[in-house]
Amino acid sequence: HERDAIPNKSLKSSKYATPSRSVADHYNSKVDVGVERRRESTIIFLRSFNNWIKSVLIGKYVTRDGYALDMGCGKGGDLLKWNKANIKSLVGLDIAEVSIEDARKRWSEMKGRRFDAEFHVLDCFTSNISSIIPSSTKFDIASMQFCLHYSFETEEKARITLNNVTTNLRSGGIFIGTVPDANWIVKKLKSLPKEQLKFENSIYSIRFEQRDNFPLFGHKYWFYLKDAINDCPEYLVHFPTFQKLAQQYGLELIYKKRFHDLYNEFKEETHYRELLYSMRVIDKRGEDEMSDDEWEATGMYIGFAFRKK
Ligand code: SAM
Repeated sequence: HERDAIPNKSLKSSKYATPSRSVADHYNSKVDVGVERRRESTIIFLRSFNNWIKSVLIGKYVTRDGYALDMGCGKGGDLLKWNKANIKSLVGLDIAEVSIEDARKRWSEMKGRRFDAEFHVLDCFTSNISSIIPSSTKFDIASMQFCLHYSFETEEKARITLNNVTTNLRSGGIFIGTVPDANWIVKKLKSLPKEQLKFENSIYSIRFEQRDNFPLFGHKYWFYLKDAINDCPEYLVHFPTFQKLAQQYGLELIYKKRFHDLYNEFKEETHYRELLYSMRVIDKRGEDEMSDDEWEATGMYIGFAFRKK
């Protein structure tokens, strides 16, 4: 990751970027097991922790009555968070058809729903969002939760994604998200004996195909997370590269913290402390319920926010 300069290429056309089918197939094949089954999962505390982190980011940056764009919204796991944040309307996009159907159903059956929403199938890394949403719609917030790293397969996909974010945000609008921290992952990889390409604990594994070159885009690894992600191809997001690229699209970094640091920053704030209890991240004695292996896995992520100039 030593390369510094990213050429300021203009975005020409998306027709050469091939759609991300393998990722879509992976998420399409996942059955929505429902809240009860998710509660039985062995990674229940990790899930709750990740949800709490997203609640903090949404709570911190969403404006009341705002217009929100959720790229890679999945099955609508953040719908309650959007509702709590009192947004006016939501557009949810995802490449996985089955997930979009689930999200639409979940929203239409949601009790106490206070916002309008529409959901569309779209490959946000190869297609222009304006093919679906009128370009006059300007969003106050764009969110990409646990999704952006798939776009780092190629520089073109990352650029199309950021172009989608920036052209749909109003000026002063906010772009929030969560991504794996390439520094953390690469440090772990480099701590292994030279021939070794895989590291893991009881709930996750990361397997590289090579560790000789570290390209800024397309550095693939296979990610497995117990009860959640079954060996899906992902790509390292070298954050300084992401930040420089985002800058070229008028997006200025205003917040970046590793999940553990973000937790320490907000865990004592009354509102978020109460959420920690109600989301069952910590128990009544105020102790976190996560296993050491879950805690290690949550440490690999970063939460971020950019502001459009
Ligand atoms: N954001 C949701 C959440 O936090 O619960 C879902 C996260 S899931 C780990 C990643 C999501 O990114 C999946 O729903 C997947 O289908 C979506 N995704 C991957 N590639 C995409 C693309 N090219 N365009 C739109 N969505 C994509």
